[in-house]
Amino acid sequence: MAYITINKNNFFNNLDIIAKQTKSVDKIALVLKDNAYGHGLLEMAKLAKEYGITKAVVRTNEEAKSIDNFFEYILVLSDIPKQKSKKVRYTINGLNSIDKFPVGTKVELKVDTGMHRNGVAISELKEAFLKIKKANLELEAVFTHHRNADELTSEWFWQNDNFKFVKEESISLSKEFGFKNFRFHSSNSASLFRCNNFYEDMARVGIAAYGCLKLPNSLNQANLKPVLSLYASKISSKELKAGQRVGYGGNYQVSEDSIASNYNFGYGDGFLRVCSNNYKTPQDIKLIGRVSMDNSSFLSGDDELLVFNDAREVAIFAQTISYEVLTSLKADIKREIV
Ligand SMILES: *Cc1c(COP(=O)(O)O)cnc(C)c1O
Repeated sequence: MAYITINKNNFFNNLDIIAKQTKSVDKIALVLKDNAYGHGLLEMAKLAKEYGITKAVVRTNEEAKSIDNFFEYILVLSDIPKQKSKKVRYTINGLNSIDKFPVGTKVELKVDTGMHRNGVAISELKEAFLKIKKANLELEAVFTHHRNADELTSEWFWQNDNFKFVKEESISLSKEFGFKNFRFHSSNSASLFRCNNFYEDMARVGIAAYGCLKLPNSLNQANLKPVLSLYASKISSKELKAGQRVGYGGNYQVSEDSIASNYNFGYGDGFLRVCSNNYKTPQDIKLIGRVSMDNSSFLSGDDELLVFNDAREVAIFAQTISYEVLTSLKADIKREIV
């Protein structure tokens, strides 16, 4: 099987840059959902702790449990616990989930400021506070999520304005309902790097930490470095004669006599099949024929193949985003920290 390397220096370089932007390591909440964007949940949790990160964000209770020892604060984006926890905070994604949380659960209220996916509507804020009070939950934060912070439209500003209004409303409602002070956060990676002067209580940072943030060209590009590389080993080599066709469907024909090899990774490991016939590695080695389940052919005789060291490059070939390239990588691929 293929293997993944995690570049610790690059990860720490990215965290240095992010901490400059948030102005404090303590304001970084590292997003570790979906197996830490395919990097490996435990591997990345360990490294983050070593760096001094104290906060993490995950999707499920299960993920939260497995990294409980590494952080002081964990935010679960989409799950409801059986019992309350000291460390773990749970997201309220809608009014009708509020009475499902155990009494005393620490919760954070997600507000829909324009994405129209999860979160209570701005018009429902008061009802949400009322229900949280009635359900005896500990409200610790109010937050929102941007729908296109990574694109140059006015929408980022529009959502910021909406969230500003949410903050003012929340502060006055918190007085009315006798809540303690709580925190506000709205930034993902792209949003954080668009802030000239970050002032919120925390930023939820995923893709920037993994070094694959993609900002519009006109914005200041941070010197982030990709953390994950995928390597594969050769299974066998072949001399192909001009005109021979390779792989399922035989839909790649070599134009001249060539050496081709088959490497031990495929779509079964999470490498996207749309890369068939068109992908080129960072060393300009061409993928030929269709990606199979357990193997893929390249125009190379090398024993080891660097498949990619920047998921954004694969994303271009696959017409998708680096997030999908990374999270597709199966959890059972060996991950090694280098
Ligand atoms: C995934 C996620 C993030 C992280 O987004 P990046 O673009 O990877 O920084 C932040 N907040 C929420 C609510 C998310 O679901």
